[in-house]
Amino acid sequence: MTEKYDVIVIGAGPAGYVAAIRCAQLGLKTACIEKWQNAKGEGVNGGTCLNVGCIPSKALLDSSYKYHEAKSELSVHGISTTSVKIDVKAMIERKTKIVEQLTGGIAGLLKSNGVTSLFGTGKLLSGKEVELTDHKGGKQILAADNVIIATGSQPINIPVAPIDGKIILDSTGALELTAVPKRLGVIGAGVIGLELGSVWNRLGSKVVLLEAMTDFLSIMDQQIAKESLKIFTKQGLDIRLGCRVTGSDVKTKEVVVTYQNSDGEEVKETFDKLIVCVGRRPFTEGLLAPDCGVNLDERGFIFVNEKCATNAPGVWAVGDVVRGPMLAHKGSEEGIMVAERIAGQKTQMNYDIVPNVIYTHPEIASVGKTEEQLKQAGEPYNIGVFPFVASGRALAANDSEGMVKLIAHAETDRILGCHIVGPSAADLVQQVAIAMEFGSSAEDIGMTVFAHPTLSESVHEAALAVNGHAIHIPNRKKRK
Ligand code: FAD
Ligand code: AMP
Repeated sequence: MTEKYDVIVIGAGPAGYVAAIRCAQLGLKTACIEKWQNAKGEGVNGGTCLNVGCIPSKALLDSSYKYHEAKSELSVHGISTTSVKIDVKAMIERKTKIVEQLTGGIAGLLKSNGVTSLFGTGKLLSGKEVELTDHKGGKQILAADNVIIATGSQPINIPVAPIDGKIILDSTGALELTAVPKRLGVIGAGVIGLELGSVWNRLGSKVVLLEAMTDFLSIMDQQIAKESLKIFTKQGLDIRLGCRVTGSDVKTKEVVVTYQNSDGEEVKETFDKLIVCVGRRPFTEGLLAPDCGVNLDERGFIFVNEKCATNAPGVWAVGDVVRGPMLAHKGSEEGIMVAERIAGQKTQMNYDIVPNVIYTHPEIASVGKTEEQLKQAGEPYNIGVFPFVASGRALAANDSEGMVKLIAHAETDRILGCHIVGPSAADLVQQVAIAMEFGSSAEDIGMTVFAHPTLSESVHEAALAVNGHAIHIPNRKKRK
């Protein structure tokens, strides 16, 4: 007999498991199908984010930063450290334990909320039926009133540098290195390339990032991007812009990479390991039966409207598999919106306020519009900038590189964007995201009382600077 659910979710990453939990909370009979298997062949929830993405990368970023601090930063505080060593195996094992703890936690959350967790591969058939193929090949047909597709994304492979899992790695392989490579090449100086490059740079690799674009972090606010480039270069990351990789030749223990530099010359460089971080693509392989009625867009994403409805009635799609930034929290919020809409609520998601973070040190974080976007749209704006070097707390922590940049509408003073490179940028930008969600003006933040001494005061000062009222830096615009 066909088992019938109110909702079947395909994929248990941050988009899918969150959607499933919210559906169950709303009283819907919900199943969540996941095909991921761990090294022991067991089914695991959590998707890219928990298994090979956000969480393991942050675990390695934190470990490697502690090593770097112990080795190079503590002496300024009068703390001497000698013979600081890194045990890469122990670092990777710690990361793996965190992943196991969190993925196990998702299984517990699904269970306690009453979601039926099923392991295997889901395929959408016509009429909102789903074929489930378990890990032993057994098949069953399930049916639902609503199906939520949350099958995520996978790394893009480029033919000029095919992944061999030994010398040429994707982001997943780069989280499993057991020794520090002497010479590490990274193709792509985007979010993932910068994070992974930073991990191994701190541990002693000589890291070269080859980036095809001539602008660094081209979609970010360019003042913040330029400041970040200076900071990373000082840290020893060798970021080569305008360099397109055209080939790779794997030898026994190294790879010779060929690229065209910004002058159009062909250059060869040898690395012990090469990480390919050129972006991710939506994952829909084997997912859609030809008659299921779901369309893809021209870039291979599942086509959805702003409410995440596909063109097949009762079939929804959320997360990396649909348009928009590939971010865990974006997918989770879409999952909640869809669950609540299925339950008859009118929930909408505010796509204009989705924070974006690069977890380097210092972090880079942004929300809302960049100065370049506002210029292009012809919107009048005012800017307030506060450098961390003027923050007492940042100086006390010996962590004073970077700045907060706040942008507000020139006529209404409504906050339009905030861009930060600096200590705890991710947490600071979130304060502005909340303010933006409430339609706040720069003056509203300026009138809020901030605790002293905190890094948050830098947000306060940037907001005051928008209208020429900053206290702890000279104002570019002087106003009464
Ligand atoms: P996924 O997490 O990819 O989950 C989809 C799930 O669906 C997978 O578990 C997959 O096995 C399963 N699946 C696919 N097809 C089927 C099928 N037919 N049947 C059953 N199951 C199926 N984002 C951030 O916001 N912050 C970060 O710091 C961050 N760091 C990252 C670092 C790295 C190295 C990487 C690679 C990514 C990072 N991301 C980060 C991106 C983030 O991981 C993704 O945006 C997020 O995981 C997308 O969630 P999702 O649920 O849409 O897809
Ligand atoms: P992101 O989309 O943030 O993950 O960044 C991926 C980066 O890889 C982008 O900035 C691309 O410009 C870059 N990229 C893609 N293909 C190549 C290539 N062949 N050589 C160098 N950089 C590349």
